[in-house]
Amino acid sequence: MATQKMLKFVTIGREMPEKRDAASRSEDFHEIYREFAEAKAKEQASRCSQCGVPYCQSHCPLHNNIPDWLRLTAEGRTQEAYLRSQETNTFPEICGRICPQDRLCEGNCVIEQSGHGTVTIGAIEKYITDTAWEEGWITPVAPTQERPESIGIIGAGPGGLAAADRLRRMGFQVTVYDRHDRAGGLLIYGIPGFKLEKQVVERRTQQLVEGGVDFVLNVSVGEDISFDAIRGKHDAVLIATGVYKTRDLDIDNAAAKGVVRALDYLTASNRVDLGDEIPDYEDGELNARGKRVVVIGGGDTAMDCVRTAIRQGAQSVKCLYRRDRANMPGSQREVQNAEEEGVEFVWLSAPGAFTGHVTGEAMVAQERDVDDTGEIPTISAVRVQKMRLGAPDVSGRQSPELIEGADYDEPAELVIKALGFEPEELPRLWGVDGLEVTRWGTIKADYQTHQTSLPGVYAVGDIVRGASLVVWAIRDGREAADSIAGYLSGAARVAAE
Ligand code: FAD
Ligand code: SF4
Ligand code: SF4
Repeated sequence: MATQKMLKFVTIGREMPEKRDAASRSEDFHEIYREFAEAKAKEQASRCSQCGVPYCQSHCPLHNNIPDWLRLTAEGRTQEAYLRSQETNTFPEICGRICPQDRLCEGNCVIEQSGHGTVTIGAIEKYITDTAWEEGWITPVAPTQERPESIGIIGAGPGGLAAADRLRRMGFQVTVYDRHDRAGGLLIYGIPGFKLEKQVVERRTQQLVEGGVDFVLNVSVGEDISFDAIRGKHDAVLIATGVYKTRDLDIDNAAAKGVVRALDYLTASNRVDLGDEIPDYEDGELNARGKRVVVIGGGDTAMDCVRTAIRQGAQSVKCLYRRDRANMPGSQREVQNAEEEGVEFVWLSAPGAFTGHVTGEAMVAQERDVDDTGEIPTISAVRVQKMRLGAPDVSGRQSPELIEGADYDEPAELVIKALGFEPEELPRLWGVDGLEVTRWGTIKADYQTHQTSLPGVYAVGDIVRGASLVVWAIRDGREAADSIAGYLSGAARVAAE
């Protein structure tokens, strides 16, 4: 019977792959989890109870056939497990590494709900696809038939790459444009190597190149080439540009030297990890070595910043967040990893001002700031305001309220702002009439077809959803590819009639 090897959750406990100890992993940017050995992957997969109604699957944005590939893994049929898993996911090994599984598949596993500890779905998904790479089962895309229609994809993040892969498999001619010098989007320049090693992303890009996808890098649409020119070159266009406008603080000395944006900081660190020479890192501006570091924010970007600062050799790293641990947006698993590595979380705290000094002469923010003197002060401390949680707002979330008179100064030589991202105003930046946006500035696109208000123009990922997750960008990209194929087939039919 197919389930003989399964349902072992009663006798076998949940185990994650071994985690490197905090001291050694804090010294480098390698991933912190080791791979499951084959026997361990089989054992952990066998804990699945093969639910008739698998909640894991319905809470995976890609609706992965999780019970199927868990059973195949438990039976030692890893290649079949891989084939099943890649039917629904373009980059399973990436999702296995960085999906917040506790909020998605694993958080909804029924054996977790019954107190036995979730099946380690993400780690097994990673194991299956890493094995597929090692065994040579993953090969460049080879369409059975070429099609003449071409699609221009703007943005080489997970949304754009997932669409590129699917369209190329159907035989379309695909060109991906990106303003960066490498493909991958936030997978390469946002998310640090200790969560997702760069080579894992680069081999996927290489696979697409070898499969015939054309990459045009170092080209910023709207600056180096117009959107209309891209539209004129291709039969359909996909916008997958992500969200990059950073939210800011309106407090004294907000622009002091030593106060930096999270993405500038992470991009520099990722580039150094990739072997690039980065002057702002070398001269210390975007380098935490020896400094007292304060990171402001409680999301995944803040978690990545604190843990990067530890690896760069910061003297101390503190994370200020205005709500408490239970109400933070970042993953609890990442908070635990950060604490193990030496990060201190200062809950219910917000920055009230930055204190700076000019040319060695100490002065507090209120006495003199950037606008008064024309000189830019250098950060020396963060004025920390203490908060408490008040009444719930319309969303049901408790709002932080200031506790008067509880402020104090936290010394700092580097402050990293990780306050979230918003969309840039693309229609204005690109001079495109008729491309509709929502009141939040994200591009308006049909949620199933991903078509925008312009015929033949589609949009996916963060630029539509606002800052979201890699797995949602992949889903959007795959769905948009199917819609584009339908649109082009219809267009071809009309042209032939
Ligand atoms: P992006 O990945 O942002 O890619 C957009 C691409 O478009 C970029 O390469 C950019 O250079 C390019 N581009 C933009 N404008 C132009 C232009 N005008 N011309 C040419 N190219 C352009 N999600 C998770 O699921 N798990 C995590 O652990 C996680 N950690 C994160 C950590 C950080 C620090 C950040 C910032 C985000 C994290 N996310 C995480 C979110 C995730 O990275 C995004 O949701 C996802 O990358 C969105 O994919 P995308 O394809 O829409 O956009
Ligand atoms: Fe879970 Fe993400 Fe994999 Fe879906 S893609 S099964 S949510 S790890
Ligand atoms: Fe297996 Fe858990 Fe999914 Fe049920 S919910 S099929 S036990 S992984």
